Amino acid sequence: MAETLFNRLPWQQSQWEQLQSARTQQRLPHALLFAGAKGVGKSNFALAFAQSLLCETPNEQGEPCGVCRHCHLVQTGSHPDFQRIEPEQESKSGEIKVDAIRALTASAGLTAQSGGHKVIFIRPADRMNSAAANSLLKTLEEPTADTVLLLLTDSPSRLLPTIRSRCQQILFAQPDTKDAIEWLSPRVTHGDPEVLLSLAGGAPLQALLLDDTELLSKRQDMLGDFLALGQAKNDPVKLAERWAKSDIPLLMDWLSGWVIDILRLQTGGEPPTLFNRDSVQPLQGIAERLNSSLLQRFLRQVYEARNLGETNLNPQLVLERLLIQWASCLRQAGH
Ligand SMILES: [Zn+2]
Repeated sequence: MAETLFNRLPWQQSQWEQLQSARTQQRLPHALLFAGAKGVGKSNFALAFAQSLLCETPNEQGEPCGVCRHCHLVQTGSHPDFQRIEPEQESKSGEIKVDAIRALTASAGLTAQSGGHKVIFIRPADRMNSAAANSLLKTLEEPTADTVLLLLTDSPSRLLPTIRSRCQQILFAQPDTKDAIEWLSPRVTHGDPEVLLSLAGGAPLQALLLDDTELLSKRQDMLGDFLALGQAKNDPVKLAERWAKSDIPLLMDWLSGWVIDILRLQTGGEPPTLFNRDSVQPLQGIAERLNSSLLQRFLRQVYEARNLGETNLNPQLVLERLLIQWASCLRQAGH
């Protein structure tokens, strides 16, 4: 994805124009909150915008030139006035800690060294722990001229309301299917672009991440195991142990997608409206047997588990509880 990292995407034109026009009128807010589903391209946009703010010679539309010293430094990740704050890679909790935010507020942290803007990129902003969020709040209350904070989040409701209210929110919706497919088709090498896009809930960059034969076949295996849990020989605890080794956030997306599709099939949903349009048959089989209030309750449990999975709780325990519940739903339905 490196090729697209600093390129804003075709469906982000209106957000770009809005911000560039604010900039021309010197009314750019000190803090922007970029909100939208995972995989719609918020980071691409934010990086392109950061580069635009730091470029020496952006064009009339604000597009960075791509060749000046500043553009080069931004693209190589070494611009002194462009700072990225993200969870440490080895961090188990995936949190942004207070030290990272404090470093910002330290003496020179907020002042541009090259006399232009200072741009700070925080992602995912909703993963700041409470000490970090409170520390950032102080910065937002006393903004420094020319400093622009770009906060990115898939879940704006998880941010402190006081942080949200001090940022101008810029929303990124899923693009039209036609635009998304047009962008995705030349980039996809294994899967079917339409299937991948449905699986990703309409988010093109997420769809591109799923374009991986091994990952897709793993997903099929997992779906098979999930649907077969009603059989007495299949043990939910053993399955939880196996699944705990996989990418938990992705697994939770898949799990909720399967359950949502079973619910949709019960109300007459057609394949184009489903996440899993390549797995209609097995999901339909379950949809015909399971009680929908049981399913809805299970879906709520999946959402709760997803939230728990993002804290420090042991994912295996969380999965165990969930899969035991699911096995019991299936057995009640006589599957
Ligand atoms: Zn430039």
